[in-house]
Amino acid sequence: MAKPTDTYDLAPLKLVPGDGRRVELEARLDDLVFGADTYAATPPQIPVVLDISRMTGGGWALRLRFEAALTGPCMRCLGPAQPSTTVDTREVDAPGGGEELQSPYVDIDVIDIRSWVRDAFALALPAQVVCRPDCAGLCGECGVNLNEHPDHAHERGPDPRWDALRSITFD
Ligand SMILES: [Zn+2]
Ligand SMILES: [Zn+2]
Repeated sequence: MAKPTDTYDLAPLKLVPGDGRRVELEARLDDLVFGADTYAATPPQIPVVLDISRMTGGGWALRLRFEAALTGPCMRCLGPAQPSTTVDTREVDAPGGGEELQSPYVDIDVIDIRSWVRDAFALALPAQVVCRPDCAGLCGECGVNLNEHPDHAHERGPDPRWDALRSITFD
């Protein structure tokens, strides 16, 4: 496996305005922490496709694409989950173009690939890590896994909230 690229220097490409180039790199993917759980980036090193355009007046328009998964506990049933995420993200860095045209991942001609990959992956992830989209989770009363016991149910006693009402006497 090729050595991962943490930073990528655009200067040696010697692109002039209007030029474009596509490069394929190996990037490191850091594990992510959600609440108390750590989710392992899977695999920890991934191929990424970087599209580079040199803009008129200098600066860069960049597009980064990759696919990766996370491995960790399902947030509903605590079973193993490995959701896969596709990332397709763009950055523009134009000197003198104002704050919204400054990319936090580009320092003149050098791209911070590792930080960009990490942040883009975190942003593209679903809000909940689940083993499958229709995971039924655990029974709220006894903790039984409802994926394994789809017919699981409890005898319904009277709703405890009615007890409080019943104890009120109206004169
Ligand atoms: Zn689940
Ligand atoms: Zn139950």
